[in-house]
Amino acid sequence: MSVGVDRSFNFCAGPAALPEAVLTQAREELLNWRQRGLSVMEMSHRSEEFVAIAEQAENSLRRLLDISDDYAVLFMQGGATMQFSAVPLNLLGGNGRADYVNTGQWSKKAIKEAARYADVKVVASSESTNFTTVPDFSGWECRADAAYCHYTPNETIGGVEFSFVPDLNVPLVADMSSTILSRPVDVSQFGLIYAGAQKNIGPAGLTVVIVRRDLLGNAHALTPSLLDYQFVADNDSMQNTPPTYSWYLAGLVFQWLLDRGGLKEQARTNEQKASALYDAIDNSSFYDNPVEPQSRSWMNVPFTLANPELDSLFLKKAEQRGLLNLKGHRSVGGMRASIYNAVEMEAVQALISFMYDFERECA
Ligand SMILES: *Cc1c(COP(=O)(O)O)cnc(C)c1O
Repeated sequence: MSVGVDRSFNFCAGPAALPEAVLTQAREELLNWRQRGLSVMEMSHRSEEFVAIAEQAENSLRRLLDISDDYAVLFMQGGATMQFSAVPLNLLGGNGRADYVNTGQWSKKAIKEAARYADVKVVASSESTNFTTVPDFSGWECRADAAYCHYTPNETIGGVEFSFVPDLNVPLVADMSSTILSRPVDVSQFGLIYAGAQKNIGPAGLTVVIVRRDLLGNAHALTPSLLDYQFVADNDSMQNTPPTYSWYLAGLVFQWLLDRGGLKEQARTNEQKASALYDAIDNSSFYDNPVEPQSRSWMNVPFTLANPELDSLFLKKAEQRGLLNLKGHRSVGGMRASIYNAVEMEAVQALISFMYDFERECA
């Protein structure tokens, strides 16, 4: 079973599926971008053409998320993981204190890296539930003098997502890698948002940082220039050669989202996709998802089979049906279906119907 021209349904957690319409447009423009006689990949990043592509991508993202001029939008490299260092290096300042919320594996990595630079306090954790919940906000023990509080709105591996934005008196920093653009957010509630592109934005190699301008300019003296948000902002993210093709494709994805009606519309679709899949899991005694219902991710749906010995057969038969990359993260096993923006309802329905058939035939 395939969509379009020999395309399977791809549930990869990242790099993830891209919208077919975007790939088709990129193919059409690959050899000769808008009759300029060359590919975007072959353009100088300082050319009029590429600068226009870059500006348009930023403008589309600003429209999608309604980002005000109080925020700089940076297009960086190094992935979300590089931001685990860049955030403390830029924002710590004064007393070096930073609060972190621990909701799973990506939180832990951010905490570990920050602890190299900062006096880190874990102000809330869902470790006691094996990361199947989000810590109740009333119990967070934040410090009034922390430089910022960092959290992970969507834990890509555990499939746990916040249903609220914490309301704090210190700048809120969010690793939105696997949830950005899945629904509207009020950017003004955040000091800084960062996201690696390869989940919901575009190809790998690009990292988007949205940072309140009043937080710029306080980087630690030893911060590499390329990680200094002020320096990057001052240079329109062109201080050195940016990942031009990823930036261009991200712009096409932003435009695709705008054409589909923006993030409200996308959120409606995403909620429908997620609830269809969770319903299928909940209505079966063969499949299980351990996350408490109000903290279930719209983007990453981990699930187990009642008999783990059937895991490899499940994956093999899924692949035969054109359902790719359902294997769970190596640290947790089982399955995981990532249903990012580019994974359409049609793909989710194909998965549900396969799961139903597999249970009937093999369970
Ligand atoms: C994928 C992911 C990362 C790591 O991203 P890289 O770009 O590979 O560094 C970090 N945080 C979250 C929440 C992710 O989903």
